[in-house]
Amino acid sequence: WDPSQFEKHGQKLLQLIREHFETIHELPVTTNISPKELFDLLDSPIPEKPRSFESTLDETWEKIIPHLTHWNHPSFHAYFSISASFPGILADLLISSLNVNAMVWKAAPAASALESVILRWLAEMVGYDPFGDGVLLNGASLATFYALAAARDQQSDLNVRTQGLTGRYIPRLRIYTSDQAHSSIEKAAIALGVGTENVVKISSDEQYRLIPDKLEEAIQLDLDLGFRPMAVVATVGTTATGSTDPVSSISEICKRYDTWLHIDAAYGGFWNLVPEIRTDAEDLQKGDSVVVNPHKCLYTPLEVTALFCHHRGALANSFRLVPEYLRTVKEDGSVDFMDFSLQLGRSFRALKLWWVIRSFGREGLAKRLGESVRLARWLAAQATSHPDFACSATSPFALVCLRYVPYSIQTVWERVTLEQRAVLRDYLDRLNAELLARLNQSGTAFASHAVIRDGYVIRISIGNIHTTEDDIKQLWDTLQKLALEVSKDIPI
Ligand code: PLP
Repeated sequence: WDPSQFEKHGQKLLQLIREHFETIHELPVTTNISPKELFDLLDSPIPEKPRSFESTLDETWEKIIPHLTHWNHPSFHAYFSISASFPGILADLLISSLNVNAMVWKAAPAASALESVILRWLAEMVGYDPFGDGVLLNGASLATFYALAAARDQQSDLNVRTQGLTGRYIPRLRIYTSDQAHSSIEKAAIALGVGTENVVKISSDEQYRLIPDKLEEAIQLDLDLGFRPMAVVATVGTTATGSTDPVSSISEICKRYDTWLHIDAAYGGFWNLVPEIRTDAEDLQKGDSVVVNPHKCLYTPLEVTALFCHHRGALANSFRLVPEYLRTVKEDGSVDFMDFSLQLGRSFRALKLWWVIRSFGREGLAKRLGESVRLARWLAAQATSHPDFACSATSPFALVCLRYVPYSIQTVWERVTLEQRAVLRDYLDRLNAELLARLNQSGTAFASHAVIRDGYVIRISIGNIHTTEDDIKQLWDTLQKLALEVSKDIPI
């Protein structure tokens, strides 16, 4: 291709993307095609000769796009509903066009400078300002791993970085987090050689928030047993219910026991842009390190996460390693982002955040996040006031956990034995699982589930930039209609 062919194909692609967004409501949110059918459709020998780009585009629209789950669909409510906004999508095109590798300052001066600026903006938006070091990464899981590595390596008597974990006495390191924490904490423990057995799960209260007294008890017990507390991970916006741990009380405990506090605000962080949420929000500033995910809540296409760490030099203490071929003359004020993680080659993620934030402004972002919260509250209110539904967990963010509980069961609940309740609970779990399966098969919406104290619940996350009140009303109508069908089809 020469640049003019690139432009021609690019225009065609932009047109197709425009049409995709204009008609996205007509697409099923997800596909029911089987893995075998998909492989039959897509598996083919390596093309030996070049194929025309027109045919590649045609086949993409014919064979790939109809069989995707559309994360950008306004009725996508599974996991965490996310959005690639148009400025973010265009930025990705320019990022690939420039193909800058933001590993060391010299290799990417403006990209490195912009990354520093963007990190400062993001920190200010979520209330973690001023911070020490920060870095843009691909996801919160790795960010938490890096933060916990820094927590481990700041213990000056443990030279794990150079000596490893074997062949000498290493105290048994412990990480504390709530029973609601994301699996990335345990994965980090695996990768750090701490081990999942040493991730101590602290009970949460009826609102799914870590109970500080239980945390302190666990730390004290561990100290008596000769274990060494390495870090506590608090969550702002848990995955199942969107709950928030009491960060201030947890931070007091961390201070008392001189333990690193990492805050996983991957989901919850950016809701701080909404003034009414910020007023009651936990103080992220208390964290030694904090992770927030622009690719979850900030209308920025995957993959981009920000990790902040108050302790200047702590991330570099774990990850800075400069071979000769990467050595550069250090200029005053320059930052080499390769120093803060395991990743060397790094894309110019800061650009898409810059474009998104400039395009919306802080006010525009806050307004859209606020609208998602309003829609979620509306849906939660419908479920709460409906005789056959319950809102099983409330979150300040735009996440609603619904459970279909036919009124006939609610009325007998208080009068039945514990054994009978167990049978009913199992029945309700099956009803809700079937209701979710039918919702997703319908193609009109896509949601996911959680198992919490009430049992199996349908999680509705609202966060797509194109989701309207009508979409949520339709979702609620569909859920009610399908619920009636499911209870007829599945007898107790
Ligand atoms: N932390 C929380 C609370 C999450 O919900 C998630 C993912 O949903 C993660 C961490 C991991 O995020 P990522 O997919 O960016 O690694």
